[in-house]
This record gives sequence, C-alpha cells and structure tokens, in this order.
Amino acid sequence: MSTSETITYKIGKCPCGKGSVVKTVVSQDNPWSSADVSNHIECSRCCSEWDLNHSGDRLTLRSSTIPSQKASKTRMEATHDLDTYIRDLTAKYFEGQNFKTKKAEHEYLIQLGIATGSYRTYLQDRKRSPMHRVGYPRKNEAFVNQLVATYGDKIQYQTLLTAVADADTAYLAASAKIVRHDVKP
Ligand SMILES: [Zn+2]
Repeated sequence: MSTSETITYKIGKCPCGKGSVVKTVVSQDNPWSSADVSNHIECSRCCSEWDLNHSGDRLTLRSSTIPSQKASKTRMEATHDLDTYIRDLTAKYFEGQNFKTKKAEHEYLIQLGIATGSYRTYLQDRKRSPMHRVGYPRKNEAFVNQLVATYGDKIQYQTLLTAVADADTAYLAASAKIVRHDVKP
C-alpha cells in the first residue's frame, strides 16, 4: 500500500490582499512517482475574478482579456476575408493555365514561391483541396498584385488590406490593456 504526503504553502498574496496564492505538493511514498504540484488562489473574490497561470507566478484579470479576445476574432475574420478574396482570384488564374500533371502544378507553385512542401505533401493536399487552396498565394506579393489588376478590384483589395492592418493595431492595443498581477512573496 502506498501513502502520500501533501504539503501546502503560501507563495504570495492575492491581488485584493485578503487571501493568498498557494502551492500544493503531493508526493507519493515511493521512488518512482514524481510529485504532483498545483497552484491555486485561496480567496473567494480573487478566485472568481483572476486566472492563475500554470507556474503560479502570474495572475490575469479575466474581464480585462475580453476586448483582446474580441479583437483577435475580428483579426482572424479580416485575415480570412483577405485570404478568401486572393484565393478566389488565384482560382480564376489557374483555370486559364493548362497544367498537364500534378507534378507540373507543384513545380509551378514552387516557382511562384506559393508552395514550399515536397511533391509528396502536395499530392496529399490535392486529394483534399483544389489547387488554389494549397500553399499561400499571399507569399508572392507581385503575383497577388498582378491577380488583382487582372481579375480583381484594386479598391476592394485595398479595403481588405486596411481591415487586416486596422484589426492588427486594435488587437495590439487591446492586448496591452490586459491587467496582470505578479505573485510575490
Ligand atoms: Zn483576494
């Protein structure tokens, strides 16, 4: 039968100062099990308002992360819209090309700098997706500009680019406002 020993000790004060952040170490009385270490906030108020990180040295005010989560979602949506727009133009361009083999497709994408993987990976990707969904057309800015000029709309493209840039700025600003509290003895 194995026994275990639990040691709990205070590693710092909670943000409101009335409670504390504690570390709990559970060690088994055998040489092969490692100790189980966990940290938590011992204060009902701070516990409902703050999140403690895994190592137990930093707290984050949960409500302060909401704007950055929203901004992150907006940024993902803006990036997705831009990506979809470019891939749709890429599809139009590829339709006009006459690739005889998958090998020719892959070589072309490598040449454009859109794809970087091996031919084997390309074949796997192509089983699931059409050619314009493989690789990253945005990697080749000159190619994208050419696509926009030929099949797209410069104003629409610029609007999508601006939306991504604005979303980036908003995300950075929101992230900078996240309230953190270092746990100190
Ligand atoms: Zn507290």
